[in-house]
Amino acid sequence: MYLNNIIETIGNTPLVKLNRVTDGIKGTVLVKVEYFNPGNSVKDRMAVKMIDDAEKAGLLKPGGTIIEGTSGNTGMGLALTAIARGYKCIFTMSDKQSKEKQDILKAVGAEVIVCPTNVPADDPRSYYSIARKLNAEIENSYYPNQYDNLSNAQAHYETTGPEIWAQTEGKITHFAAGVGTGGTICGTGKYLKEQNPAVVSVGLDTYGSVFKKYKETGIFDEDEIYSYKTEGIGEDILPKNVDFDLIDLFIKVTDKDAALMTRRLAKEEGLFVGWSCGSAVFGALEYAREHLKEDDTMVIILPDHGTRYLGKIYNDEWMREQGWL
Ligand code: PMP
Repeated sequence: MYLNNIIETIGNTPLVKLNRVTDGIKGTVLVKVEYFNPGNSVKDRMAVKMIDDAEKAGLLKPGGTIIEGTSGNTGMGLALTAIARGYKCIFTMSDKQSKEKQDILKAVGAEVIVCPTNVPADDPRSYYSIARKLNAEIENSYYPNQYDNLSNAQAHYETTGPEIWAQTEGKITHFAAGVGTGGTICGTGKYLKEQNPAVVSVGLDTYGSVFKKYKETGIFDEDEIYSYKTEGIGEDILPKNVDFDLIDLFIKVTDKDAALMTRRLAKEEGLFVGWSCGSAVFGALEYAREHLKEDDTMVIILPDHGTRYLGKIYNDEWMREQGWL
């Protein structure tokens, strides 16, 4: 019994009950542990789907180069897919992302270009702009653009949603996920709400991001934008994959609360997960404490693995430098 390549191991990740950090909460809280994917993150799902769809549409041809702006995890999924299918990869990444993520991408053969974080998205130096420029310059290149490419949310509609519905035997009442491109929450949420429109979808956002205010007021408020440290969630743009009708509410979580909850997940639940997992659990439990009833079942997505953050939130010295320990 064997698989043809590592890409075929994507998906069917386990759903695990939280037992300690949920102290005092009514109902059942389950987490979907996405680090079981081969690239150790939820983004493997959409990476392979974006490539499949691009091949079908004739946008990506044999020997081509995939160019993407990524916080690291999408890059990993794309790099693994590229190896299986014979493509080259160039990734642009902002300099706030962990060094581990850059090194991991290089280890699987990708070229990585680090760009400044503290410039607007439309600045020619931003990682969005550099990716676009390279795509225009390099022949036979394809820019998936995970923000606006709807294959992203579709991957979760086809895989993450049905998996959760089956794993909870349709008992899920609340779904929570951090929002970056919006692919995970909107694709999964769309499927779950189609099965049961009463499923509540909670989006976790960061301070320094535009989502929560936009959902509540319809205003894209530039004053909401400032730099923050949590990686992978929150945006200074409105990606096409975010369908605000599929997200019932947003909760913002601070960098510090997220970091401390991530460390608790490792120590108290044995879940050695990434920083945005702490954001997701901290915010979701804040909601659960107030709203979850005895018979309710909440599922929270844990997007990636702790190894990517060893130099930051799992490093006591770094934590003390932030004033968080
Ligand atoms: N957490 C991490 C660590 C991520 O890399 C991402 C992807 N940006 C997310 C959460 C958010 O997922 P999505 O892009 O599907 O909204």
